[in-house]
Amino acid sequence: MAAETLNTRLALKIDADTFRGTRDGVPGLLEELDRAGVKASFFLTLGPDNSGKAVLRVLRKKGFLGKMLRTNAIKMYGFSTLFYGTLLPAPRIGQRLAGALRSIESAGHEVNLHAWDHVRWQDRLDHLSPEEIEAELARGAGAFAEIFGRPPRAFAAPAWFCTEAGFLALEKQSFDYLSVTRGPAPFRPRAGGRALSLLEIPTTLPTLDEALGRDGVTEANWIERLIGRYRPGQTEVLTVHAETEGLAYRPLFRDLLARHRDRGVIPITLAEVARELGEQGPLPEKAVALCEIPGRAGKVAVPAAG
Ligand SMILES: [Zn+2]
Repeated sequence: MAAETLNTRLALKIDADTFRGTRDGVPGLLEELDRAGVKASFFLTLGPDNSGKAVLRVLRKKGFLGKMLRTNAIKMYGFSTLFYGTLLPAPRIGQRLAGALRSIESAGHEVNLHAWDHVRWQDRLDHLSPEEIEAELARGAGAFAEIFGRPPRAFAAPAWFCTEAGFLALEKQSFDYLSVTRGPAPFRPRAGGRALSLLEIPTTLPTLDEALGRDGVTEANWIERLIGRYRPGQTEVLTVHAETEGLAYRPLFRDLLARHRDRGVIPITLAEVARELGEQGPLPEKAVALCEIPGRAGKVAVPAAG
């Protein structure tokens, strides 16, 4: 018997965090998306790949070894990535891979900005001055414009991490929308005592690396467990990583797209969601808090209750 049709709309938000993920993972994702006839929303890291610094940071964190073992980080990220910015020089992703990045757009997908320096945003944002945050965004937007001939229209925060100062700096870039937080539904973020002129579209679902190895989730049952969370008739946002679903877990991503087709999941891009929301009435205004979520080290931004 065929499984029941869900009528859930699902936006694939694809983050490319590293040089290796962008070079080796993105082409595989493009092939799978093309095979499935699905358009996705890519968020690109364009500055130096300082992954080695992140490795040093997580080595100091509790729970790192468990995550390393559960997700097989070396298989996912590759050996040299673990030393970029420390033992090895940090490759400039946008400069080195401009042609590959343009091919995402020419395949019909949405491209926007994820970061200049992913590791710096994730690890240092709460230590940066407003001017430094603005400079970080301006560098990213400048590199994006050099590659695509126009500024980015949206931004997704590295590791879903953002502070009040971060939101205020993002507002100055006048993006059409952000996808910065983890939460159930779009809202207008509040910061500095006011609602910002920004539209936030959160990631609604757990990522593959958060889910694997927790609560009995395995590669064999991940897809059914994930689809079990889709709200019929609603819009879900799933974040996918070039480093993960584009490389070691590519077959799983292919199976997920096939399963979506079987279950009547309707693909949509984040730009389309943003356009629709712009035509609707005002969104709820929400402050943003930082909190821990299962399966992820470090705090992520979430809409505050109420
Ligand atoms: Zn990222």
